[in-house]
Amino acid sequence: MNEPAFQATSAVSARAARLASIPSFQRVNTHIRKSISRRPGQADACDFTFGNPHQMPPDRYVNTLRDALTPQHDLWFAYMTNGEAAREAAAESLQRLLDVPFRPEDIFLTTGGFTAIALALKAVADPGDEVIYSLPPWFLYEPLILEAGLVPVKVTVNTTTFDLDLEAIEAAITERTRVVIVNSPNNPTGRIYPPELLLQLAELLEAASARIGRRIYLVSDEAYNRIVFDRLRFHSPVEFYAHTLLAYSYGKTHLSPGQRIGYLALPPTMPDREGMRPAITGLQVAMGWVYPNALLQHALPGLEKFSIDVSQLQRRRDRLMDVLGGMGYRVHRPEGAFYLYVTSPIPDDEAFTESLARRDVFVFPGVLFETPGFFRISLTANEDMIERSLPAFEAAMKESMNRSER
Ligand code: PMP
Repeated sequence: MNEPAFQATSAVSARAARLASIPSFQRVNTHIRKSISRRPGQADACDFTFGNPHQMPPDRYVNTLRDALTPQHDLWFAYMTNGEAAREAAAESLQRLLDVPFRPEDIFLTTGGFTAIALALKAVADPGDEVIYSLPPWFLYEPLILEAGLVPVKVTVNTTTFDLDLEAIEAAITERTRVVIVNSPNNPTGRIYPPELLLQLAELLEAASARIGRRIYLVSDEAYNRIVFDRLRFHSPVEFYAHTLLAYSYGKTHLSPGQRIGYLALPPTMPDREGMRPAITGLQVAMGWVYPNALLQHALPGLEKFSIDVSQLQRRRDRLMDVLGGMGYRVHRPEGAFYLYVTSPIPDDEAFTESLARRDVFVFPGVLFETPGFFRISLTANEDMIERSLPAFEAAMKESMNRSER
């Protein structure tokens, strides 16, 4: 018997119902439910959807975790907050990467990039405050923003260069603006924002904060800051704007997203950081003890010493760009992260990704990133999948050309 609708909905809080109804979130969940992702041992599908590993983890990664598992004292698996050794290793590594002298006490360990972003938002913004971010975005900003009681405000990047559209950001700023999220290297576009652009953004935010009489914070989502191609130098917004909170995840660097560890970092230039520290550590507990497990904290100094093979990702990028380009696809060249964002040969990107799916090749349509007309390929698929997928990409392209000729 069908339950009356009011009973079904009354079990769910208004907040949870609102989150569940976000269109892009629903779409992601539908794609997950459709089980487009490969299961262990199911080798035939060419899975280019999530940034998941499709080859055995490197021995070095496994050995680092195994070493961290051996207890060195009786408190090895006791409650751990912001473990000192982990904080120090993370601060040193950030200093090496960005040439900014981060302090260990300004590193707040989290269960990956998700909670680092949620922590940043809750640390500086109150319910009703507005958060600006650019489309195409990582599709889970919106639920994180809404769950924190904040208001998402979306602008679009320049869809030719994939650079931030500073005029659009400026036009979106109101008296309620509290945060601008910047994601470089970008998922899904692969763009690394150049230093001149970051400097202009910093000037814009400085002027806008003065104008509205309230500080606008920048949340820099740098989950991919170690995944940079062609020996480019990555520049972080922290180098240009003091009021930046840096969110990082080890899940990309080691291609191990099921092992949840990351951090939120405040740069030494952040003027109010002493006052922010106890507020952030309070939130780490109140949000549900969002510290990484003891094992991963013990492993972190070792994990800081290496990353996945970025040159292998770059070779996959080059191979796919070369072959897909030859088939007539318009592929945008990513400078970092591990995705190709490709123009869909037909405007209906969902129909196009379905035509690939019928051929056992699974990619994400641009609608998931609120930019129809594109599709995303994850370069974490293995070489065998890449080679086996090529006839399907060719056939789907031919089918769409025939369709547009008709
Ligand atoms: N930011 C971006 C841009 C991402 O792509 C992801 C993961 N896909 C995250 C944050 C979250 O990373 P994690 O799952 O490691 O917490």
